[in-house]
Amino acid sequence: MERRSVLKGLAIGAGAVAAGVVLPAAVAENFGPKGPEVDDPRPAGFWEKDAGPWPTVPRLESDVQADVAVIGSGITGLCAALTLRELRPELKLCVLDSHRPGSGASSRNSGHLVAEYHAWESILDSQGPEAAKEWNQFSGRAQAALLDFIRFRNIECNLRPEPLIAAATKGQVPALQKLAARMQAAGRDSTLHQGQEFQEKIGTRFYAAGIEESSCLLMHPGKLIKGILERVLGQGVPVYGNSPVLKVANTDSAVAANLLSTPQGTVAAKQVFFATNAYTPRLGGLLSSRMIPIHVAIVATRPLTPAERERAGFLWANLKEIQTLSRTIGLTPDHRVFLRGIFGYKSFNSCVWGPGGKDYERMERELRERLPYLEGIEVTERWCGPVAMNVSGRPLAGALPAKGQYICACYNGVGMVDGFYHGRLVAHQMLGADHPDLKYLYPLAQAGWIPPEPGRSIGAKAFFYFGL
Ligand SMILES: Cc1cc2nc3c(=O)[nH]c(=O)nc-3n(C[C@H](O)[C@H](O)[C@H](O)COP(=O)(O)OP(=O)(O)OC[C@H]3O[C@@H](n4cnc5c(N)ncnc54)[C@H](O)[C@@H]3O)c2cc1C
Repeated sequence: MERRSVLKGLAIGAGAVAAGVVLPAAVAENFGPKGPEVDDPRPAGFWEKDAGPWPTVPRLESDVQADVAVIGSGITGLCAALTLRELRPELKLCVLDSHRPGSGASSRNSGHLVAEYHAWESILDSQGPEAAKEWNQFSGRAQAALLDFIRFRNIECNLRPEPLIAAATKGQVPALQKLAARMQAAGRDSTLHQGQEFQEKIGTRFYAAGIEESSCLLMHPGKLIKGILERVLGQGVPVYGNSPVLKVANTDSAVAANLLSTPQGTVAAKQVFFATNAYTPRLGGLLSSRMIPIHVAIVATRPLTPAERERAGFLWANLKEIQTLSRTIGLTPDHRVFLRGIFGYKSFNSCVWGPGGKDYERMERELRERLPYLEGIEVTERWCGPVAMNVSGRPLAGALPAKGQYICACYNGVGMVDGFYHGRLVAHQMLGADHPDLKYLYPLAQAGWIPPEPGRSIGAKAFFYFGL
């Protein structure tokens, strides 16, 4: 989501506040872990609706056994299930989701498939250009693997190359030039554009310059995730929807070390794969000191007519602003223009934002301010979803301390490539299978501490208010 890990500021700000707050024990209890949000209405976003009818899946209504239970059916969970199936076809698998399969962030995003290791800038500063290059090459392999997967599995999701423009306003041009040099040092393709020609290509004078990154691809998130779900079901892996896992208990059983409880049934599983991303801290407080859900949202216009597109005149409509708390602008395959902005943090790691009327109105103003050619063209689609952020800016993937439990989450807003690839890697790790990129899994313990409530809420509010 951001060029640098925004959560460094958040952690420092919130830590300072938390350190100064002494709560009576009785009050502190109220700030303990909260459970999964089973009553989240989760209205379908545009991509989910636009992808056509989705396969229907049952609810878990009995007690079942599995070798591996995957919790969460976004790109991470579904691709991990397919990898487990590929590696060991004889294993008994199941996937559980609290809501409609694929209805989390995986079908709510901006559709960018980037080959950027999110933490590359801090690696560049701390370990130098060679290390930054190496990590970006790792992300390049991850992106290539996802493209191969989409093509090999024949998933029609409007996949297309589209340069991503890191865009800067006039005052930000020096920062943009510095960024271009750093990108080159870190082995990332970057062509700097500025002046009138650049503004004509993007169809607005709001931005003065931009860096073109040619390695970005765009896709339709709803079609991609629906396609993957169909492939998982086609492989005979049971997927249960509307089956929130309320608790995962480690047991003494030699057969199945983990017991997953849902409202209507249980799963006894030898191994569990947590693929719940931003929703994870609500599941028994898991990794809640290492990650924080942040709500991001999209507003999109009705489809532009050919005449309106000609009037706008843009050639590039795939922009990402360079500052912290940035916006991105994009174009859907049916020619809607959208803006992705940020709502903020909701206390107690809640992943439900609410109606968000005023927040969407603000975003619509931001969209029109940036792209005056949209005057008279109404915004018809609004949706939001949670992304998970941490201090290191690196995905959290690997074995948890409890027996047979693994996790793959927290992609700092760029989880379509990372969720796919880290999910694959962790699936290999679970089965003891070799993979040359296993060494790139970042140790969970190094992810950095984020304070609990109420410091978390106070720090986050300060962060979003002051843009720390
Ligand atoms: C508006 C927006 C724009 C974004 N833009 C981009 C982009 O352009 N490019 C990019 O790479 N990334 C982007 N992202 C981030 C990306 O979408 C996520 O990182 C990625 O989808 C994470 O996938 P996932 O499978 O790990 O999580 P999710 O897709 O969120 O799946 C987690 C699943 O777990 C389920 N779950 C949660 N709790 C439980 C429970 N207790 N029991 C059972 N199931 C549970 C949820 O219902 C959900 O289906 C964006 C995200 C948003 C919201």
